[in-house]
Amino acid sequence: MIYLDHNATSPLRPEALAAVTRASAIGGNPSSVHAQGRAARAVVEDAREAVAKLAGARAQDVIFTSGGTEANALALYGAVYGALEAEARITRIFVSAIEHPAVLANAAAIAERIAGVRTAEIPVTADGIVDVEALRVMLREGKGRTLVCVMAANNETGVIQPLDQIAKHVRDAGALLLVDAVQTAGKIPLAFDADYLVISGHKIGALEGTGALIVKEGAPLSPLVSGGGQERGKRGGTQNLAGIASFGAAAAVAASRADIPRQTGLRDRFESEIARRWPEAVVFGAKAPRLGNTSNFAIPGVTAETAMMALDLDGICVSSGAACSSGKVHASHVLKAMGLSDEIAGGALRASFGWNSESSDVDAVLASLDKLVSRARSRVAA
Ligand code: PLP
Repeated sequence: MIYLDHNATSPLRPEALAAVTRASAIGGNPSSVHAQGRAARAVVEDAREAVAKLAGARAQDVIFTSGGTEANALALYGAVYGALEAEARITRIFVSAIEHPAVLANAAAIAERIAGVRTAEIPVTADGIVDVEALRVMLREGKGRTLVCVMAANNETGVIQPLDQIAKHVRDAGALLLVDAVQTAGKIPLAFDADYLVISGHKIGALEGTGALIVKEGAPLSPLVSGGGQERGKRGGTQNLAGIASFGAAAAVAASRADIPRQTGLRDRFESEIARRWPEAVVFGAKAPRLGNTSNFAIPGVTAETAMMALDLDGICVSSGAACSSGKVHASHVLKAMGLSDEIAGGALRASFGWNSESSDVDAVLASLDKLVSRARSRVAA
């Protein structure tokens, strides 16, 4: 198999697998006071240090969750309820148009369920960058305390968002900032001033079902799950020891970003070959700063549906940028927000490279694309 879908999940790193094996052998509860409990606790706290380092945060601000989705939900609900308890109500949630459903769906659910909270969409430019000026105006207009949600980089296009500028406007307005850094951790430095920062383990080569919310000191946060006081009372329940151990090990490797230039080299060669073979091909977000591992592209005349099937038959795993429901392929909300037509966005394919990608993977995908483009075009000609 040729696996170029690291933005969906990045296979378990060997270091993470070794940590799982070690942690699973402990057989103690991190909350127990006896020796085995203390050994388990040490694993959790070491992992917390490693995740904090990856995030550029303090260990005590890291709350382990079951993944990026739960961490985003905890940040959104936790901020709204926490602010309510502190009598500093959040009445507006501004959400960028290109957020992951983990943010979009939870923000929408909050507005539906909690009286007095409404959401508004922050538009993006044709390059897939959040429109900072539009956000500035939105923050200035209207009243009420605001939670702003902007991801650090988009999962489909890899476009990196101008969080320094965004954070400044958020601070000036006295608002709060939630940054979903699920795709960004371990790829670029997370050097911005967020109140809530979200990371997911399986995107950096840890087990699925691990994630973290990092909360800045003083930011409101009510727990969603109360229990035995774990995670400083912010997320009850016995910790997922093996998962957290794998998260810590993966974070320690990812933090150096040592492999990123190599992955960027693979992606760049892939894109220059695409441009050479099919000059009419489009790379979405190509003019914006992008993560070095992500390529989201379309070759006119080739639908994502057909391409996905042909690549799959050749043992190649990539993603389609389009969602298929009731037999009809719809363009992704991200590409639509960038103003792209259904026709071009309906051909969007995403190849995302990672720690185990090799140069031969690039050749294999190109060879498979060569075959399928010729086939698609000869069908049209006939
Ligand atoms: N946020 C972004 C940007 C993502 O890409 C994903 C996963 O695709 C998530 C959140 C959800 O993370 P998890 O799969 O850990 O729940």
